[in-house]
Amino acid sequence: MALGEFELIRRYFRRDDGPRNPAVSLGIGDDCALLQTTPGMQLAVSSDMLVEGRHFFPDIDAEALGHKALAVNLSDLAACGARPLAFTLALSLPHADEPWLERFARGLFELADVHGCTLMGGDTTRGPLNICITVVGEVPAGQALLRSGARPGDELWVSGTLGDARLALEALQGRRVLAPAALETSRLRLERPTPRLALGLALRGIASAAMDLSDGLAGDLGHLLSASGCGASLDADTLCGLLVASAAVPDPKDRLALVLGGGDDYELLFSAPAAQHEAVRAAGRAAGVALTRIGRLEGAPGLRVIDAQGRPVHGRYASFDHFA
Ligand code: ADP
Ligand code: MG
Repeated sequence: MALGEFELIRRYFRRDDGPRNPAVSLGIGDDCALLQTTPGMQLAVSSDMLVEGRHFFPDIDAEALGHKALAVNLSDLAACGARPLAFTLALSLPHADEPWLERFARGLFELADVHGCTLMGGDTTRGPLNICITVVGEVPAGQALLRSGARPGDELWVSGTLGDARLALEALQGRRVLAPAALETSRLRLERPTPRLALGLALRGIASAAMDLSDGLAGDLGHLLSASGCGASLDADTLCGLLVASAAVPDPKDRLALVLGGGDDYELLFSAPAAQHEAVRAAGRAAGVALTRIGRLEGAPGLRVIDAQGRPVHGRYASFDHFA
């Protein structure tokens, strides 16, 4: 690298005068970062890796990439009801492209600063473009939202909208034609996901189970159902209504496939006892995010999608699996 490794870190990632979460006692520069833990809290830790060609197109805007790399990690903290503290960044770069680094760092820190999440360390190496972030958050001991707490009779909810990121992906891959305006809005959903941190915090003590949607509703819900040992039925019409670009997708079956097969939505999927219905609504209002009740948990295992006449809708709703 023309720009040395340490100069690169100093110039783009080490912000000695930047905001710092008080939990970070020691940040970038030593062999380890030091985090001050709070008595009575548990640390919540999660990693996500973004690989060029696999998770993003080579021509993605660097600022959007910086945003997304952190957003998908923060989304995991949101799913657990954890508050972000700090993160590490392991970065493999083909070369030290300064305008690229500047944009990447801008997207990254803009989101980090919104959530008070401090870059505390990492690793930098030359290689194919690959970004691995590990986030650390905290949650009062025993209060983390897990996938395993859903019970038959609970209502099933999602935040925001679903399917538009997948729609953009298919358009960018040339598998679908979208009008420029529809491509623009759906592309924002793909490249600029919003981690639902305020909602995750507001759902502590209310949701019985929660997770974030990264690989598509049908598959991700399957994980929640198996962790909780129950099944679910979903309302087809309600699901169809979750796609924003509905005018671009006139066929309801096609809409349903986008919403259920989706991927890259980064919304929260959660269950809550029916008695918490109003508390859930209040949590959505407090967090400033729309919530939709999409169905109900049932004792019978499996996932059923039911139409307005009460009939099961059949279809294969493939969710994303890197090794399938
Ligand atoms: P080590 O040799 O101990 O692995 P390095 O020399 O790789 O440490 O890194 C020096 C310092 O810079 C460390 O504090 C490390 O955490 C930090 N660092 C390296 N790469 C990054 C990065 N991409 N983002 C943030 N901090 C980084
Ligand atoms: Mg060292």
